[in-house]
Amino acid sequence: MAGNWKLNKDPQETAEFAQAITGKLPSDSEVISIIAAPAIDLQTLLDQKVPNLKVASENSYFEDDGAYTGETSPLALHEMGITYGIIGHSERRGYFKETDEDINKKAHALIKNQITPIICCGESLEKREAGKVDEWVSGQVTAALKGISANEVANLVIAYEPIWAIGTGKTATSDQAEEVCKMIRHTIEDLYDEGTANSVHILYGGSVKPANVKDLMSKEDIDGGLVGGASLDPESFLQLVHYQ
Ligand code: PGA
Repeated sequence: MAGNWKLNKDPQETAEFAQAITGKLPSDSEVISIIAAPAIDLQTLLDQKVPNLKVASENSYFEDDGAYTGETSPLALHEMGITYGIIGHSERRGYFKETDEDINKKAHALIKNQITPIICCGESLEKREAGKVDEWVSGQVTAALKGISANEVANLVIAYEPIWAIGTGKTATSDQAEEVCKMIRHTIEDLYDEGTANSVHILYGGSVKPANVKDLMSKEDIDGGLVGGASLDPESFLQLVHYQ
């Protein structure tokens, strides 16, 4: 269950959140609890040493170092203790014009630095209404995984986030979400094999909240959630990780 804070919380608020959830997370064997925080808050979150919390970046570059003003090094993220990294969020693709090729390069860079990529994909309302969901999403997944081996893919995370459901309060129904998550698993099976497809963790994201998490998580191909708004409040985040 991964929270995605986006551009919210300063270091002070980050420390307060960490203190509020300390000692209250489920064990890793029950649910893996992840918070993806703005780069400027990551060290604060790590310093709090919240038991069972995995800390994730929200974006990172595909080079480890060099003349790339303003970017975030995946090598430095690894060295500081980051274990998961979101890439290809629809806000990055939309506002910052990230391409499938960029996202593929970022995935390779994270894997090289032992950070598990959380690769986001998802369609716009326009694509959904045109009946192009499968074609679009499977295309995004295929492009993101280019050149990544089956063993590496088996350990990574894919987040299906329909753009029309992000921050809008409009959740995809659990059946709509399941349909696309299943299609993503089939895409991976076609690209690799059944074992790899079954190992990948597939998350649904888009207005996940304590009231709908159980229904979404009951679906066969939905292994977890990527949660924006409802991850900002510690009580709400705790309810999400304790959905079972
Ligand atoms: P939301 O955001 O839960 O606020 O809809 C999800 C996301 O963008 O990851």
